[in-house]
Amino acid sequence: MIYKPYSLHNFRQIPQMHFLTEEQKLEIEVVGTVLPFKTDNYVVDELIDWSNFKRDPFFILNFPQKEMLDKRDFDKVASLIKGNADKSRIREEVKRIRLKLNPNPAGQENNVPVFNGKRLNGIQHKYREIMLFFPTQGQTCHAYCTFCFRWPQFALNEFKFAMKEASQMVAYLKANPHITDVLFTGGDPAVMKTKFFEHYFDALLEADIPNLRNIRIGTKSLTYWPYRFTTDSDADDLLRLFEKVKKQGINIALMAHFNHPGELKTKAVQDAVQRLLNAGVQIRSQSPLMRNINDRADIWAENWKEQVRQGIIPYYMFVARDTGAQDYFAVSLNRAWQIFRSAYNQVSGIHRTVKGPSMSCSPGKVQIVGVSEVNGEKLFVLNFLQGRDPSWVGKPFFAKFDPNAVWFDELEPAFGESSFFYEKQYIELLA
Ligand SMILES: *Cc1c(COP(=O)(O)O)cnc(C)c1O
Ligand code: SF4
Repeated sequence: MIYKPYSLHNFRQIPQMHFLTEEQKLEIEVVGTVLPFKTDNYVVDELIDWSNFKRDPFFILNFPQKEMLDKRDFDKVASLIKGNADKSRIREEVKRIRLKLNPNPAGQENNVPVFNGKRLNGIQHKYREIMLFFPTQGQTCHAYCTFCFRWPQFALNEFKFAMKEASQMVAYLKANPHITDVLFTGGDPAVMKTKFFEHYFDALLEADIPNLRNIRIGTKSLTYWPYRFTTDSDADDLLRLFEKVKKQGINIALMAHFNHPGELKTKAVQDAVQRLLNAGVQIRSQSPLMRNINDRADIWAENWKEQVRQGIIPYYMFVARDTGAQDYFAVSLNRAWQIFRSAYNQVSGIHRTVKGPSMSCSPGKVQIVGVSEVNGEKLFVLNFLQGRDPSWVGKPFFAKFDPNAVWFDELEPAFGESSFFYEKQYIELLA
């Protein structure tokens, strides 16, 4: 299969566009001018059910929807486009809207380490044992998720994290013996040619870093372009490279994103999964919980069951982040917990490797353990799954119950306390 991307300039050529009215195509153009838009022939031909596209989760996953923008912003951009306004006038308006959409959630710049007096702008190191690496060649994706929290990577240069020097990553790892895991992330590193993977992995292998135990690759390619691991011209080389890393005693884990069980149903994805497993690669799966895509317990239970059947390990359920089109996707924390619990209750123990629902916030990954009541006060029980300070992890703490809250910063400490237990330390850490 030959990869064919579609974006703003050519999406009208997608054969299935005849299902849409001119008005609907214009809506895609308007919202796609503000939020990154890209899809490909695999998604269009194999995943989307065009007979019911308006409610199809994969259509909503890739194609911008009118309601993803505030109505006034939508109308403004629509009138500029319809009126054939100057490109620069449109750009100005688009920039204004983008900056309102919290382009840099959870203060990611605080995770960029300073090393030998230099900011390493392609590395984030927030949790003691794990370092994120943003290879320059992997800062795009086969297709773009409309919910993406990394959208500024594609849309706003000043928020871009990237690095191409393997030597800096190696030096940083050697200097930080606590780090056991390197997570290649993006964008989607699987868009890289195998030769770039070789460049980075060989540097890691040659450096023979005793603390390095796991190389992880965060990717959505099993959903957007599974041929990356089967029929692409350098797919075999990539699998051989993974085998080589395994032989040297380093575990490879593909951190796959599967939002919906429909992404696991094609022959193409099942072949790719089996090839990866046969090469000794672990596959773990994570996804945010999103209204209009997967906000039903049955979908999650089915997703985990199908994953486990194919040999994939369920890993995280996230809460949709406070950025981009969050309002369109937001599910209340109370409902997120109910959906998680109800799905968790439907599956056997081997599926319950999944953790969540979890919010990736600046202090850490905060899990909603549940809703409870103590001395007549209704509250959320919370827990750090990861923390900027590792000692915060695994200590339950409590927030006042709020049925409408959709993100951590809307919560207040329970029992009339003035702050959460970690806050003083957190402020000191950032200072
Ligand atoms: C989620 C995340 C990780 C990975 O955490 P694990 O719980 O080990 O999967 C690492 N760094 C950052 C900044 C993260 O948000
Ligand atoms: S694949 Fe990941 S980085 Fe790419 S658009 Fe989707 S969520 Fe964002």
